[in-house]
Amino acid sequence: MHVITIDHDLCNSCKRCYKACFNDVIVWEEEFPQVRYPQECATCNWCELSCPDGAVKVIPHNPVRIPEPYPRSFYPLSYVAG
Ligand code: SF4
Ligand code: SF4
Repeated sequence: MHVITIDHDLCNSCKRCYKACFNDVIVWEEEFPQVRYPQECATCNWCELSCPDGAVKVIPHNPVRIPEPYPRSFYPLSYVAG
């Protein structure tokens, strides 16, 4: 499953990530965005790109072989052994 993380220590509660997510993966609770339904994430990265403080990270989990030039450090869960 895809992983979406939100660092609340960096967050300024601007709601941009919450408004950017068209799949309701991110919900608004108690002044902060919370990740509730990561299984519905389309990995569009809009939430991550819309955050002015770099608090949101989207880590796609696509268990298929990806060419080596692809940035492995960006998508650690997407590489399979072999
Ligand atoms: S990557 Fe797209 S679908 Fe996934 S949580 Fe962010 S805005 Fe929503
Ligand atoms: S876009 Fe970034 S700063 Fe704004 S609410 Fe979301 S995590 Fe917080």
